[in-house]
Amino acid sequence: MLLGSTARLPLAGMTDKPATANGSVPGPAPAGAAASTIPFNRSGIEGQEAQHIGQSVSIGQIAGDQSYSRKCQALLEEVLGAPKVLLATSCTHALELAALLLEIGPDDEVIVPSFTFVSTANAFVLRGARIRFADIRPDTLNIDENQIESLISPRTRAIVPVHYAGVGCEMDALLAIARQHRISIVEDNAHGLFGKYRQRWLGTFGTLATQSFHETKNITCGEGGALVVNDPAFIERAEILREKGTNRSRFFRGQIDKYSWLDIGSSYVMSDVLAAFLYGQLEVWQQIQEKRRRIWHHYDAELRDWALARDIRCPIVPDVCEQAYHMYYLILPSSKIRQALIAFLKSRGIMAVFHYLPLHLSPMGQRLGGRPGACPVSEAASDRLLRLPFFNSLDPASQGRVIDAICDFEF
Ligand SMILES: *Cc1c(COP(=O)(O)O)cnc(C)c1O
Repeated sequence: MLLGSTARLPLAGMTDKPATANGSVPGPAPAGAAASTIPFNRSGIEGQEAQHIGQSVSIGQIAGDQSYSRKCQALLEEVLGAPKVLLATSCTHALELAALLLEIGPDDEVIVPSFTFVSTANAFVLRGARIRFADIRPDTLNIDENQIESLISPRTRAIVPVHYAGVGCEMDALLAIARQHRISIVEDNAHGLFGKYRQRWLGTFGTLATQSFHETKNITCGEGGALVVNDPAFIERAEILREKGTNRSRFFRGQIDKYSWLDIGSSYVMSDVLAAFLYGQLEVWQQIQEKRRRIWHHYDAELRDWALARDIRCPIVPDVCEQAYHMYYLILPSSKIRQALIAFLKSRGIMAVFHYLPLHLSPMGQRLGGRPGACPVSEAASDRLLRLPFFNSLDPASQGRVIDAICDFEF
């Protein structure tokens, strides 16, 4: 089934981070009650987070770049095989750091998918760059590599692919285009940590890549992120820009006896208190991914035939991808049916939510030159996609309730 609808929703705002109103509840599950509300997201607590935070406080390491930050960075570097991982205050800030490192400026253009979170583009808009919005592929909803050549100009400096739902973009094609035109790739890997494309970790393809540890992501510390530096030539400057333009990181390692202001920069260092929480998640990352893998496959096993018979599309994961199990979505035949299903599920206490409103149609995107119809696949996905409740602690009974409700839905 193709994404062809031209019906459009009003541009209400961003929806990547559901507030309580559209389905996210904080904290652990309320006890019992089969009829309780099933949120779209619930922050996952794996067990040792509070202990690690207690430890960071009791040893007096509450600022950044101390033992828990180093442990998180070392773990990520080891698993991913990346030359350097630097924790940051958010994925948004890691993207800003990437834009600074690449020295993106007002004469430059950056290609981003329209179907993404605002920060993917905004980090480069902050540097004065011109954003060229690319449409997405109808199957994976990832940036359409076949449209990129037509967006490249002599001013193009970077492409920012987003591995939507943790399913890898066509990195072979993207890397070939980037090499040919000598432009950089910055992977916005907010969804894709621990996913793979052709057996290689997502987040290790771009010159730079960014991770998010926001509470809506697979691995979280509430608010946080990381910059993955895959080209070692950027490591030293990345450390400086992240530390207010100073070489404080080298000072901390005892490599110099005083630190000073060397470059532009800002304050992107994560507190060790949050890194302690994050470590409680990262140390069990395989268990987290296994929980999410099971939830994803349970939805898929129960819903795929039902959907197929009704012209409803389930996620497509190409053979070359090992997905990161970030979400499960349905693409309904029309916006109207999608809204009806949201309302129907809500009547059964189930919070399912739509996703990105295309950036090129947002008020800011239109000021940047976006026009209705420019990215038709993004527009259709935005109108018709529905994300189902998906979080680490989603228990089989609750998931069964979601599946039963969907199968009871008639249109
Ligand atoms: C969540 C998200 C971000 C922003 O992450 P923060 O850590 O909240 O700044 C950026 N890009 C994508 C694709 C995201 O999903």
